[in-house]
Amino acid sequence: MADLVVGSGPSGVTVAGALLARGREVVMLDVGKGLEPDRAAARDTFASAGPAGWSRDDIARWQGGQVAAPPGRVRRFGSDFAMEPPEATFAEGADHFHLRASNAQGGLSNLWGSALLPYRAADMAGWPVTADELAPHYAAVAAFLPVSGTTDALGQLFRQMPMEGRTPLPAGPQAEEFLRRHLSAGPDPGATLGLARQAVAPGCRACGQCLHGCPWRLIWSAAQRLPALAALPGFTYRPGAPVRRFAEGPEGVTLTLADGSSVTGSRAFLAAGVLESARILLASQPVPDKLTLLDSQHGFLPALQRRATRPRPDRMPHHTLTQLFLEIDDPALSPYLVHAQIYGWNDFYARDLIASYGRRLPGSAPLWRLLARRLMVAQIFLHSDHSARAELSLAPDGRLRARTSLPADHPARFRAAARRVGASLARGGLAPLGFAARVNPPGSSFHAGGTVPMARTPGPGQSDRLGRPHGLARLHVADASVLPAIPATTITLPVMANAHRIASEAP
Ligand SMILES: Cc1cc2nc3c(=O)[nH]c(=O)nc-3n(C[C@H](O)[C@H](O)[C@H](O)COP(=O)(O)OP(=O)(O)OC[C@H]3O[C@@H](n4cnc5c(N)ncnc54)[C@H](O)[C@@H]3O)c2cc1C
Ligand code: SF4
Repeated sequence: MADLVVGSGPSGVTVAGALLARGREVVMLDVGKGLEPDRAAARDTFASAGPAGWSRDDIARWQGGQVAAPPGRVRRFGSDFAMEPPEATFAEGADHFHLRASNAQGGLSNLWGSALLPYRAADMAGWPVTADELAPHYAAVAAFLPVSGTTDALGQLFRQMPMEGRTPLPAGPQAEEFLRRHLSAGPDPGATLGLARQAVAPGCRACGQCLHGCPWRLIWSAAQRLPALAALPGFTYRPGAPVRRFAEGPEGVTLTLADGSSVTGSRAFLAAGVLESARILLASQPVPDKLTLLDSQHGFLPALQRRATRPRPDRMPHHTLTQLFLEIDDPALSPYLVHAQIYGWNDFYARDLIASYGRRLPGSAPLWRLLARRLMVAQIFLHSDHSARAELSLAPDGRLRARTSLPADHPARFRAAARRVGASLARGGLAPLGFAARVNPPGSSFHAGGTVPMARTPGPGQSDRLGRPHGLARLHVADASVLPAIPATTITLPVMANAHRIASEAP
């Protein structure tokens, strides 16, 4: 009997690859939505013209879909294919909890910012899996995941992902200037700054369209892994009706799909993303009837450059993914790292400024555009111990109910983190705009999980080191649902490494 893998996102393709490498037969069940043909054609036309051939109108058309997206909805390539609307997943609670599911081939990695870090060893203290145990699995993932970046100070914190031989994306003029000034200001105790690491394939054209969808698909999506898996013996990809529940027997696991059909495998690996995996677990009742979802909450701290940089940051060549990572290790602030991703110019800044302030000052648009060219933004993430939680339960119609709660000290903790990050920004020649700092809604970081956390001696509602919820032997949860906590640094690379470990060690 084959092994079953549910989902083709980063965790699903990683599990499938590890199982195939062990000579297992794998059937991957996926909803498998794809980019609409007209949007794919528009992308290919835009790509073939190349930056030198793009007119202002071409660029405006290309960006139009993303610009028109309602708040909370993330689009790429002008399409909504990769993010489910809230009402598809939630019967109630989605107004306060902004995590969304994906039913796409490749899952949410069609939309992601592709920022990559392993978890720092100290941020995994007390987990049933250590950072050193994950190290070979990071290496296995990096064998198929493109990793851009370089060796720098961040390497001391994140030894599990060596950066020798990697090439960074070209840092924009703002990031270069910031790095230079920060370095020349001398040591910044408790802060470690370096170039961002991203899952971007070599050949970046520095065209600045990253937040609209890379026309050449250089920003990795897990869907790109499927052809390589399909070329291996023993792999079957089965897109179609969603999996709704499972039942475990002595010989295998049977998955029941929304169309009433079922499929049985020797083992099943749930990698449907934290919301869909929770829905399947709750419907199958191997867990208590409420699950607690942990979130690493994030917020923004804008800052202005004291001097304009040359060349202008809004002119090519540049990219609009995160430019820099800043890690704050300050026990007075948190026992865990506070993680900040620093962005340079992107085309949303001027639009947002004009929409927020421009209407009150007719004719002021050029001023906001000028200001936007001096803006850098730190996206600050906190550990899940300092962030909101959502209690998930199943509504009678099979969708989820989410009830969100926030730790009492959260606003003060975020303000303190923003002040500390702001101090590092100031050393790099920026004037942090503390009054404009804002915390974003729970779930909106998309760094969430921990509904069935791995534990050394799992009890009800927990899973073992192999992601098996208490009482189960053949059903493994392989996505972020099994993380014991959500550190502030990026989530997907550690989830992929852990998924690889689970699939490599499963009996
Ligand atoms: C805007 C945005 C930016 C992000 N930026 C970053 C970043 O910079 N760095 C980072 O580390 N992370 C980032 N993330 C988070 C990252 O995308 C997720 O951590 C990652 O995609 C999770 O992978 P997954 O495979 O566990 O789940 P998903 O990507 O959600 O994939 C789920 C898969 O399961 C399938 N599926 C779902 N339900 C069912 C069902 N019932 N039956 C069958 N199949 C099903 C789907 O079709 C899909 O293939 C970002 C996310 C978003 C939305
Ligand atoms: S700048 Fe962004 S969109 Fe342009 S080629 Fe590089 S990764 Fe792709």
